[in-house]
Amino acid sequence: MGGTFDPIHHGHLVAASEVADRFDLDEVVFVPTGQPWQKTAAEVSPAEDRYLMTVVATASNPRFSVSRVDIDRGGPTYTADTLTDLRKTNPEAQLFFITGADALEQILSWRKLDELFENAHFIGVTRPGYELDAEHLPDGAVSLVEVPAMAISSTDCRRRVAEGRPVWYLVPDGVVQYISKRSLYRKPTDEPT
Ligand code: ATP
Ligand code: MG
Repeated sequence: MGGTFDPIHHGHLVAASEVADRFDLDEVVFVPTGQPWQKTAAEVSPAEDRYLMTVVATASNPRFSVSRVDIDRGGPTYTADTLTDLRKTNPEAQLFFITGADALEQILSWRKLDELFENAHFIGVTRPGYELDAEHLPDGAVSLVEVPAMAISSTDCRRRVAEGRPVWYLVPDGVVQYISKRSLYRKPTDEPT
């Protein structure tokens, strides 16, 4: 499951857990993006912070792990490269790529489209506020899965922190503490001078 994870929240975790159960997956690998090519540098927290929050959030689940492939590759992240790298380190594995309904809508705009579908089976999950359909995608390339509706986004979590409102129960406790410890998402005016 790829994502910016800025921060990781319970929408991501529930989707991963639900798909792991439905598809009997051995492992869900969370892959925080390097610099996302659709977002500009200023909008995205440092990769190490996003990586560590993802580690904190997934540490208690023996079937969840975190990969640094996109962060360590450097440069903009393309999911086709993510899958190629994961394929290299797991040549025997059957790969699935979990993606929310909003990202699935965008998928045709992703780079190296044929490589994408060669390397993994895509699993589109429901997300409140978005229509889940795979009509625009190649036959058989994508499965659609309904997951418990979590109306949570990282954008809303960041806004909440900036406004001094709570993110408790939207993100795991350890992530609340990490955000506070590293003073992430504060408005520039909140920075100590
Ligand atoms: P942002 O608001 O910064 O875009 P986000 O909440 O969309 O953050 P991402 O890191 O962009 O989180 O998403 C990673 C993946 O998780 C995407 O495929 C996205 O569709 C999916 N996803 C995110 N939130 C949910 C949710 N609440 N329910 C289901 N899928 C989700
Ligand atoms: Mg998003």
